[in-house]
Amino acid sequence: MKLYFEAEKFIKGGLSGLQSRVFQAKLSSSPKHVYALVINTLKLKPYIEEVIKKSGIQKDIKRKCSASLLLLLVYDLAFSPQGRIQSGKHPLKDEVLRHKTRLAAEVTRLKIKHKVKSLTELATEENDDETPVRWIRVNTLKATPDDVFNTAEFKKLESVSRWQDIKAPGYIYTDDYIENLYGVHPRERITESEAYKNGHIIIQDRASCFPAHLLCQADTHDEIIDATAAPGNKTTHVAALSRTLVYAFERDDNRVKTLKMMCQRATDNKDAIHVTHADFTATKPEDFPNVTGLIVDPSCSGSGIFGRGSNNQEQTHDEGRLAKLAAFQFKIVKHAMSFPKARRVIYSTCSVHAEENEQVVAELLNDRELWESGWRLEKRDNVLSTWPHRGLADELKGVHGCDADELAGGCVRATPKEDGGIGFFAASFVNVTRKP
Ligand code: SAM
Repeated sequence: MKLYFEAEKFIKGGLSGLQSRVFQAKLSSSPKHVYALVINTLKLKPYIEEVIKKSGIQKDIKRKCSASLLLLLVYDLAFSPQGRIQSGKHPLKDEVLRHKTRLAAEVTRLKIKHKVKSLTELATEENDDETPVRWIRVNTLKATPDDVFNTAEFKKLESVSRWQDIKAPGYIYTDDYIENLYGVHPRERITESEAYKNGHIIIQDRASCFPAHLLCQADTHDEIIDATAAPGNKTTHVAALSRTLVYAFERDDNRVKTLKMMCQRATDNKDAIHVTHADFTATKPEDFPNVTGLIVDPSCSGSGIFGRGSNNQEQTHDEGRLAKLAAFQFKIVKHAMSFPKARRVIYSTCSVHAEENEQVVAELLNDRELWESGWRLEKRDNVLSTWPHRGLADELKGVHGCDADELAGGCVRATPKEDGGIGFFAASFVNVTRKP
Protein backbone atom coordinates (compact mmCIF):
# COMPACT_ATOMS: atom_id res chain seq x y z
CA MET A 1 0.00 0.00 0.00
CA LYS A 2 3.06 2.25 0.21
CA LEU A 3 2.55 3.37 -3.39
CA TYR A 4 -0.92 4.70 -2.53
CA PHE A 5 0.12 6.30 0.76
CA GLU A 6 2.94 8.10 -1.02
CA ALA A 7 0.77 9.09 -4.00
CA GLU A 8 -2.00 10.37 -1.70
CA LYS A 9 -0.18 13.55 -0.76
CA PHE A 10 0.11 14.70 -4.39
CA ILE A 11 -3.61 14.61 -5.15
CA LYS A 12 -4.54 17.83 -3.36
CA GLY A 13 -2.02 19.93 -5.33
CA GLY A 14 -3.73 18.92 -8.61
CA LEU A 15 -2.00 18.81 -11.98
CA SER A 16 -0.13 22.07 -11.52
CA GLY A 17 3.61 21.40 -11.19
CA LEU A 18 2.83 17.75 -10.44
CA GLN A 19 5.82 16.43 -12.28
CA SER A 20 8.36 18.48 -10.37
CA ARG A 21 6.59 17.90 -7.06
CA VAL A 22 6.73 14.13 -7.52
CA PHE A 23 10.24 13.93 -8.91
CA GLN A 24 11.64 16.27 -6.29
CA ALA A 25 10.05 14.40 -3.37
CA LYS A 26 11.83 11.75 -1.32
CA LEU A 27 9.88 8.58 -2.11
CA SER A 28 10.52 4.94 -1.50
CA SER A 29 8.22 3.92 -4.40
CA SER A 30 9.32 4.59 -7.96
CA PRO A 31 8.58 8.28 -8.77
CA LYS A 32 7.55 7.12 -12.25
CA HIS A 33 4.87 4.84 -10.78
CA VAL A 34 3.68 7.47 -8.33
CA TYR A 35 3.49 10.08 -11.10
CA ALA A 36 1.61 7.76 -13.47
CA LEU A 37 -0.88 6.78 -10.77
CA VAL A 38 -1.53 10.36 -9.66
CA ILE A 39 -1.79 11.89 -13.12
CA ASN A 40 -4.12 9.16 -14.39
CA THR A 41 -6.29 9.51 -11.30
CA LEU A 42 -6.43 13.30 -11.58
CA LYS A 43 -7.37 13.10 -15.26
CA LEU A 44 -10.43 11.07 -14.37
CA LYS A 45 -11.08 12.69 -10.99
CA PRO A 46 -14.66 13.97 -11.58
CA TYR A 47 -15.70 10.56 -12.90
CA ILE A 48 -14.07 8.62 -10.08
CA GLU A 49 -15.75 10.92 -7.57
CA GLU A 50 -19.10 10.31 -9.25
CA VAL A 51 -18.61 6.55 -9.06
CA ILE A 52 -17.52 6.72 -5.41
CA LYS A 53 -20.58 8.77 -4.53
CA LYS A 54 -23.06 6.61 -6.41
CA SER A 55 -21.62 3.33 -5.11
CA GLY A 56 -21.86 4.55 -1.52
CA ILE A 57 -18.48 2.96 -0.77
CA GLN A 58 -17.22 5.84 1.37
CA LYS A 59 -19.64 5.32 4.23
CA ASP A 60 -18.97 1.57 4.28
CA ILE A 61 -15.19 1.89 4.71
CA LYS A 62 -14.46 1.57 8.40
CA ARG A 63 -10.71 2.11 8.33
CA LYS A 64 -9.09 5.50 8.15
CA CYS A 65 -9.03 6.43 4.47
CA SER A 66 -8.82 10.00 3.14
CA ALA A 67 -10.80 11.10 0.09
CA SER A 68 -7.53 11.29 -1.90
CA LEU A 69 -6.50 7.77 -0.91
CA LEU A 70 -9.90 6.38 -1.83
CA LEU A 71 -9.73 8.17 -5.18
CA LEU A 72 -6.42 6.43 -5.98
CA LEU A 73 -7.62 3.00 -4.87
CA VAL A 74 -10.86 3.25 -6.80
CA TYR A 75 -8.97 4.48 -9.86
CA ASP A 76 -6.69 1.46 -9.87
CA LEU A 77 -9.44 -1.02 -9.12
CA ALA A 78 -12.25 0.22 -11.32
CA PHE A 79 -10.77 2.60 -13.90
CA SER A 80 -7.21 1.51 -14.69
CA PRO A 81 -6.55 -0.94 -17.57
CA GLN A 82 -5.08 -3.52 -15.14
CA GLY A 83 -8.15 -3.25 -12.84
CA ARG A 84 -6.40 -4.16 -9.59
CA ILE A 85 -4.98 -2.58 -6.46
CA GLN A 86 -1.21 -2.89 -6.69
CA SER A 87 -0.29 -4.10 -3.21
CA GLY A 88 0.04 -7.17 -1.07
CA LYS A 89 -2.49 -7.99 1.63
CA HIS A 90 -3.76 -4.99 3.56
CA PRO A 91 -7.01 -4.56 5.51
CA LEU A 92 -7.90 -1.36 3.63
CA LYS A 93 -7.36 -3.12 0.31
CA ASP A 94 -9.74 -5.89 1.46
CA GLU A 95 -12.40 -3.35 2.42
CA VAL A 96 -12.25 -1.64 -0.98
CA LEU A 97 -12.19 -4.98 -2.82
CA ARG A 98 -15.49 -5.92 -1.18
CA HIS A 99 -17.12 -3.18 -3.27
CA LYS A 100 -15.60 -4.28 -6.56
CA THR A 101 -18.90 -5.38 -8.14
CA ARG A 102 -20.76 -2.22 -7.14
CA LEU A 103 -17.95 -0.05 -8.44
CA ALA A 104 -17.87 -1.96 -11.73
CA ALA A 105 -21.63 -1.49 -12.15
CA GLU A 106 -21.31 2.27 -11.61
CA VAL A 107 -18.45 2.44 -14.11
CA THR A 108 -20.63 0.69 -16.71
CA ARG A 109 -23.41 3.24 -16.08
CA LEU A 110 -20.89 6.04 -16.45
CA LYS A 111 -19.74 4.70 -19.83
CA ILE A 112 -23.33 4.47 -21.06
CA LYS A 113 -24.07 8.00 -19.83
CA HIS A 114 -21.06 9.46 -21.64
CA LYS A 115 -21.47 7.21 -24.68
CA VAL A 116 -17.91 5.87 -24.54
CA LYS A 117 -16.68 2.31 -25.00
CA SER A 118 -13.63 2.66 -22.83
CA LEU A 119 -12.67 4.86 -19.92
CA THR A 120 -9.54 6.01 -21.71
CA GLU A 121 -11.84 7.70 -24.21
CA LEU A 122 -13.41 9.54 -21.33
CA ALA A 123 -10.04 10.77 -20.12
CA THR A 124 -8.99 11.80 -23.62
CA GLU A 125 -12.29 13.56 -24.18
CA GLU A 126 -11.97 15.62 -21.04
CA ASN A 127 -8.22 16.03 -21.05
CA ASP A 128 -7.43 16.16 -24.74
CA ASP A 129 -4.87 18.76 -23.94
CA GLU A 130 -3.70 19.74 -20.52
CA THR A 131 -3.52 23.40 -21.32
CA PRO A 132 -6.48 25.16 -19.70
CA VAL A 133 -7.01 27.20 -22.83
CA ARG A 134 -5.76 27.00 -26.41
CA TRP A 135 -4.19 30.27 -27.54
CA ILE A 136 -4.42 31.32 -31.16
CA ARG A 137 -2.65 34.27 -32.69
CA VAL A 138 -3.97 35.96 -35.80
CA ASN A 139 -1.02 35.97 -38.15
CA THR A 140 -1.13 39.55 -39.37
CA LEU A 141 1.51 38.78 -42.02
CA LYS A 142 -1.32 37.09 -43.91
CA ALA A 143 -4.67 38.13 -42.46
CA THR A 144 -6.54 40.57 -40.27
CA PRO A 145 -8.66 39.59 -37.26
CA ASP A 146 -11.71 40.45 -39.41
CA ASP A 147 -10.63 37.97 -42.10
CA VAL A 148 -10.51 35.28 -39.45
CA PHE A 149 -13.58 36.18 -37.42
CA ASN A 150 -15.83 36.56 -40.43
CA THR A 151 -15.42 32.89 -41.27
CA ALA A 152 -18.23 30.50 -40.31
CA GLU A 153 -16.08 28.58 -37.81
CA PHE A 154 -15.22 31.67 -35.81
CA LYS A 155 -18.46 33.67 -36.22
CA LYS A 156 -20.33 31.15 -34.10
CA LEU A 157 -18.03 31.58 -31.08
CA GLU A 158 -19.42 33.59 -28.18
CA SER A 159 -17.15 36.12 -26.46
CA VAL A 160 -16.25 35.78 -22.80
CA SER A 161 -14.43 38.39 -20.75
CA ARG A 162 -12.06 36.00 -18.90
CA TRP A 163 -10.22 32.98 -20.28
CA GLN A 164 -11.13 31.12 -17.08
CA ASP A 165 -14.76 31.20 -18.27
CA ILE A 166 -13.96 28.99 -21.25
CA LYS A 167 -15.21 25.71 -19.85
CA ALA A 168 -16.37 24.15 -23.13
CA PRO A 169 -16.05 24.69 -26.89
CA GLY A 170 -18.10 27.55 -28.34
CA TYR A 171 -16.44 30.48 -26.56
CA ILE A 172 -13.63 32.87 -27.35
CA TYR A 173 -11.61 35.28 -25.23
CA THR A 174 -9.67 38.29 -26.53
CA ASP A 175 -6.42 38.62 -24.62
CA ASP A 176 -5.75 41.76 -22.59
CA TYR A 177 -1.97 41.55 -22.90
CA ILE A 178 -1.06 40.44 -26.41
CA GLU A 179 -2.57 42.04 -29.44
CA ASN A 180 -4.34 39.71 -31.90
CA LEU A 181 -4.24 36.81 -29.44
CA TYR A 182 -7.35 34.82 -28.54
CA GLY A 183 -8.17 31.94 -26.23
CA VAL A 184 -10.52 29.08 -27.09
CA HIS A 185 -11.29 25.73 -25.51
CA PRO A 186 -8.61 23.06 -26.11
CA ARG A 187 -11.30 20.90 -27.73
CA GLU A 188 -12.29 23.59 -30.23
CA ARG A 189 -11.52 22.09 -33.65
CA ILE A 190 -9.09 24.82 -34.61
CA THR A 191 -6.76 22.74 -36.76
CA GLU A 192 -9.70 21.84 -39.02
CA SER A 193 -10.52 25.48 -39.73
CA GLU A 194 -9.65 27.15 -43.05
CA ALA A 195 -7.98 29.97 -41.11
CA TYR A 196 -5.54 27.48 -39.59
CA LYS A 197 -4.93 25.62 -42.85
CA ASN A 198 -4.22 28.92 -44.66
CA GLY A 199 -1.76 30.10 -42.02
CA HIS A 200 -4.10 32.94 -41.01
CA ILE A 201 -3.92 31.79 -37.41
CA ILE A 202 -1.06 30.21 -35.49
CA ILE A 203 -1.46 28.19 -32.32
CA GLN A 204 0.93 29.73 -29.83
CA ASP A 205 0.88 29.73 -26.06
CA ARG A 206 0.22 33.18 -24.59
CA ALA A 207 3.46 33.45 -22.63
CA SER A 208 5.43 32.36 -25.67
CA CYS A 209 4.13 35.55 -27.34
CA PHE A 210 5.80 37.71 -24.69
CA PRO A 211 9.32 37.91 -26.22
CA ALA A 212 8.26 39.35 -29.60
CA HIS A 213 5.86 41.69 -27.84
CA LEU A 214 8.57 42.88 -25.43
CA LEU A 215 11.05 43.42 -28.24
CA CYS A 216 8.63 45.63 -30.18
CA GLN A 217 6.59 47.16 -27.34
CA ALA A 218 8.90 50.08 -26.66
CA ASP A 219 11.06 50.19 -29.74
CA THR A 220 11.12 50.04 -33.51
CA HIS A 221 13.87 48.01 -35.10
CA ASP A 222 15.97 48.19 -38.24
CA GLU A 223 16.65 44.45 -38.39
CA ILE A 224 16.04 41.65 -35.92
CA ILE A 225 17.67 38.33 -35.07
CA ASP A 226 15.88 35.36 -33.61
CA ALA A 227 18.95 33.49 -32.36
CA THR A 228 17.32 30.14 -31.57
CA ALA A 229 14.34 30.03 -33.82
CA ALA A 230 12.81 26.59 -34.51
CA PRO A 231 9.95 25.82 -34.76
CA GLY A 232 9.43 29.51 -35.49
CA ASN A 233 6.62 30.79 -33.29
CA LYS A 234 8.54 33.78 -32.03
CA THR A 235 10.16 34.38 -35.42
CA THR A 236 6.85 34.70 -37.22
CA HIS A 237 5.37 36.75 -34.39
CA VAL A 238 8.24 39.23 -34.36
CA ALA A 239 8.15 39.46 -38.18
CA ALA A 240 4.46 40.36 -37.95
CA LEU A 241 4.97 42.95 -35.23
CA SER A 242 8.12 44.61 -36.55
CA ARG A 243 7.55 44.46 -40.32
CA THR A 244 11.29 44.39 -40.70
CA LEU A 245 13.79 41.78 -41.84
CA VAL A 246 14.18 38.93 -39.33
CA TYR A 247 17.21 36.64 -39.41
CA ALA A 248 16.27 33.29 -37.90
CA PHE A 249 19.09 31.01 -36.72
CA GLU A 250 18.69 27.33 -35.96
CA ARG A 251 21.51 24.85 -35.54
CA ASP A 252 19.59 21.57 -35.49
CA ASP A 253 19.35 19.77 -38.87
CA ASN A 254 15.78 18.58 -38.46
CA ARG A 255 14.38 21.52 -36.59
CA VAL A 256 15.62 23.92 -39.26
CA LYS A 257 13.37 22.13 -41.77
CA THR A 258 10.35 22.69 -39.51
CA LEU A 259 11.37 26.31 -39.13
CA LYS A 260 11.54 26.81 -42.89
CA MET A 261 8.14 25.19 -43.33
CA MET A 262 6.57 27.34 -40.64
CA CYS A 263 8.02 30.55 -42.11
CA GLN A 264 6.81 29.62 -45.59
CA ARG A 265 3.31 28.96 -44.24
CA ALA A 266 3.27 32.19 -42.27
CA THR A 267 4.21 34.63 -45.01
CA ASP A 268 4.06 34.97 -48.78
CA ASN A 269 6.87 37.53 -48.66
CA LYS A 270 10.05 35.54 -49.25
CA ASP A 271 12.18 38.45 -48.03
CA ALA A 272 10.53 38.84 -44.62
CA ILE A 273 12.42 36.08 -42.83
CA HIS A 274 15.92 34.89 -43.61
CA VAL A 275 16.43 31.39 -42.19
CA THR A 276 20.04 30.35 -41.52
CA HIS A 277 21.04 26.85 -40.55
CA ALA A 278 23.91 27.68 -38.21
CA ASP A 279 25.10 27.92 -34.65
CA PHE A 280 24.25 31.45 -33.57
CA THR A 281 27.20 31.64 -31.19
CA ALA A 282 29.50 31.20 -34.20
CA THR A 283 28.07 34.21 -36.07
CA LYS A 284 30.19 37.32 -36.45
CA PRO A 285 28.35 40.29 -34.94
CA GLU A 286 30.02 42.73 -37.34
CA ASP A 287 28.32 40.89 -40.24
CA PHE A 288 24.99 42.25 -38.94
CA PRO A 289 25.54 46.00 -38.61
CA ASN A 290 21.81 46.84 -38.82
CA VAL A 291 20.48 44.46 -36.21
CA THR A 292 18.97 46.42 -33.32
CA GLY A 293 16.85 43.77 -31.59
CA LEU A 294 17.43 40.12 -30.72
CA ILE A 295 15.35 37.34 -29.22
CA VAL A 296 17.25 34.58 -27.45
CA ASP A 297 15.01 31.69 -26.46
CA PRO A 298 17.61 28.94 -26.07
CA SER A 299 17.32 25.28 -25.17
CA CYS A 300 16.30 24.92 -21.53
CA SER A 301 15.08 22.25 -19.13
CA GLY A 302 11.49 22.76 -20.34
CA SER A 303 10.29 22.47 -16.75
CA GLY A 304 7.39 24.86 -17.46
CA ILE A 305 5.93 22.57 -20.12
CA PHE A 306 3.23 20.04 -19.42
CA GLY A 307 0.94 17.80 -21.40
CA ARG A 308 1.50 15.42 -24.24
CA GLY A 309 3.99 17.65 -26.00
CA SER A 310 6.27 17.55 -23.00
CA ASN A 311 9.28 15.27 -23.02
CA ASN A 312 10.31 16.13 -19.51
CA GLN A 313 8.27 13.52 -17.67
CA GLU A 314 11.30 12.06 -15.99
CA GLN A 315 13.02 15.29 -15.19
CA THR A 316 14.16 16.13 -11.75
CA HIS A 317 15.69 19.25 -10.37
CA ASP A 318 19.07 18.05 -11.58
CA GLU A 319 21.52 20.72 -10.44
CA GLY A 320 24.34 19.54 -12.69
CA ARG A 321 22.14 19.67 -15.76
CA LEU A 322 20.71 23.07 -14.81
CA ALA A 323 24.22 24.46 -14.29
CA LYS A 324 25.25 23.29 -17.78
CA LEU A 325 22.13 24.79 -19.34
CA ALA A 326 22.64 28.05 -17.46
CA ALA A 327 26.25 28.31 -18.64
CA PHE A 328 25.11 27.91 -22.25
CA GLN A 329 22.22 30.35 -21.74
CA PHE A 330 24.62 32.97 -20.37
CA LYS A 331 27.02 32.46 -23.27
CA ILE A 332 24.40 32.78 -26.00
CA VAL A 333 22.77 35.90 -24.49
CA LYS A 334 26.17 37.51 -24.01
CA HIS A 335 26.91 36.83 -27.67
CA ALA A 336 23.61 38.49 -28.63
CA MET A 337 24.63 41.55 -26.61
CA SER A 338 27.83 41.88 -28.61
CA PHE A 339 26.10 42.92 -31.85
CA PRO A 340 27.31 46.41 -32.66
CA LYS A 341 23.91 48.14 -32.89
CA ALA A 342 21.91 45.88 -30.58
CA ARG A 343 19.90 47.98 -28.17
CA ARG A 344 17.36 45.44 -26.94
CA VAL A 345 17.76 41.72 -26.20
CA ILE A 346 14.92 39.58 -24.94
CA TYR A 347 15.97 36.45 -23.09
CA SER A 348 13.34 33.78 -22.46
CA THR A 349 12.91 30.18 -21.36
CA CYS A 350 10.04 27.79 -20.80
CA SER A 351 11.61 26.82 -17.49
CA VAL A 352 10.35 27.56 -13.99
CA HIS A 353 13.80 27.19 -12.41
CA ALA A 354 15.52 30.32 -11.10
CA GLU A 355 18.86 28.79 -12.13
CA GLU A 356 17.93 29.24 -15.80
CA ASN A 357 16.03 32.48 -15.31
CA GLU A 358 16.83 35.16 -12.72
CA GLN A 359 20.23 33.65 -11.95
CA VAL A 360 21.26 33.90 -15.60
CA VAL A 361 19.96 37.48 -15.66
CA ALA A 362 21.94 38.33 -12.50
CA GLU A 363 25.09 36.84 -13.97
CA LEU A 364 24.69 38.87 -17.15
CA LEU A 365 24.17 42.06 -15.15
CA ASN A 366 27.17 41.23 -13.00
CA ASP A 367 29.36 40.73 -16.04
CA ARG A 368 31.71 43.70 -16.04
CA GLU A 369 32.16 43.85 -19.80
CA LEU A 370 28.41 43.88 -20.40
CA TRP A 371 27.73 46.39 -17.63
CA GLU A 372 30.41 48.74 -18.93
CA SER A 373 29.04 48.49 -22.46
CA GLY A 374 25.65 49.72 -21.17
CA TRP A 375 23.50 46.60 -20.78
CA ARG A 376 20.76 46.96 -18.13
CA LEU A 377 17.40 45.42 -17.37
CA GLU A 378 14.49 47.39 -18.80
CA LYS A 379 12.09 49.19 -16.44
CA ARG A 380 8.78 47.54 -15.69
CA ASP A 381 6.90 50.32 -17.57
CA ASN A 382 8.17 48.87 -20.84
CA VAL A 383 7.83 45.21 -19.87
CA LEU A 384 4.14 44.26 -19.93
CA SER A 385 3.73 46.47 -16.86
CA THR A 386 0.25 45.23 -15.89
CA TRP A 387 1.20 41.55 -16.01
CA PRO A 388 1.12 40.48 -12.35
CA HIS A 389 3.86 37.84 -12.16
CA ARG A 390 7.35 39.32 -12.21
CA GLY A 391 10.87 37.94 -11.70
CA LEU A 392 11.89 36.58 -8.32
CA ALA A 393 13.41 39.57 -6.51
CA ASP A 394 15.26 37.38 -4.01
CA GLU A 395 17.31 35.93 -6.86
CA LEU A 396 18.31 39.41 -8.04
CA LYS A 397 19.67 40.81 -4.81
CA GLY A 398 23.11 42.34 -4.72
CA VAL A 399 23.42 43.13 -8.41
CA HIS A 400 25.49 46.35 -8.78
CA GLY A 401 23.67 47.87 -5.82
CA CYS A 402 20.42 47.90 -7.83
CA ASP A 403 17.03 47.58 -6.20
CA ALA A 404 16.08 43.90 -6.54
CA ASP A 405 12.34 44.65 -6.86
CA GLU A 406 13.05 47.09 -9.63
CA LEU A 407 15.14 44.48 -11.44
CA ALA A 408 12.40 41.90 -10.95
CA GLY A 409 10.05 44.34 -12.72
CA GLY A 410 12.18 43.96 -15.85
CA CYS A 411 11.27 40.27 -15.96
CA VAL A 412 7.96 38.45 -16.39
CA ARG A 413 7.05 34.97 -15.28
CA ALA A 414 4.08 32.82 -16.23
CA THR A 415 2.97 30.15 -13.80
CA PRO A 416 2.04 26.85 -15.49
CA LYS A 417 -1.74 26.42 -15.83
CA GLU A 418 -2.58 29.26 -13.42
CA ASP A 419 -1.67 31.80 -16.09
CA GLY A 420 -3.50 29.85 -18.78
CA GLY A 421 -0.63 27.91 -20.30
CA ILE A 422 2.98 26.87 -19.94
CA GLY A 423 5.46 28.10 -17.33
CA PHE A 424 7.61 30.78 -18.87
CA PHE A 425 10.19 33.43 -18.11
CA ALA A 426 11.27 36.50 -20.09
CA ALA A 427 13.66 39.35 -19.34
CA SER A 428 14.06 42.49 -21.38
CA PHE A 429 17.56 43.97 -21.60
CA VAL A 430 18.31 47.42 -23.05
CA ASN A 431 21.55 49.07 -23.92
CA VAL A 432 21.34 52.50 -22.36
CA THR A 433 24.19 53.89 -24.48
CA ARG A 434 22.38 53.25 -27.77
CA LYS A 435 19.43 55.49 -28.52
CA PRO A 436 16.94 54.69 -31.28
N1 SAM B 1 11.93 30.24 -30.17
C1 SAM B 1 11.37 29.00 -30.65
C2 SAM B 1 9.87 29.17 -30.85
O1 SAM B 1 9.26 29.96 -30.13
O2 SAM B 1 9.30 28.52 -31.73
C3 SAM B 1 11.69 27.86 -29.71
C4 SAM B 1 13.18 27.72 -29.48
S1 SAM B 1 13.67 26.26 -28.66
C5 SAM B 1 13.35 26.62 -27.02
C6 SAM B 1 15.39 26.40 -28.75
C7 SAM B 1 15.95 26.15 -30.14
O3 SAM B 1 17.27 26.67 -30.18
C8 SAM B 1 16.06 24.69 -30.49
O4 SAM B 1 15.45 24.46 -31.73
C9 SAM B 1 17.57 24.45 -30.59
O5 SAM B 1 17.92 23.50 -31.57
C10 SAM B 1 18.06 25.82 -30.96
N2 SAM B 1 19.46 26.13 -30.59
C11 SAM B 1 20.09 25.80 -29.45
N3 SAM B 1 21.34 26.27 -29.46
C12 SAM B 1 21.49 26.96 -30.61
C13 SAM B 1 22.56 27.70 -31.18
N4 SAM B 1 23.73 27.81 -30.56
N5 SAM B 1 22.37 28.30 -32.38
C14 SAM B 1 21.18 28.17 -33.02
N6 SAM B 1 20.14 27.46 -32.53
C15 SAM B 1 20.29 26.88 -31.35
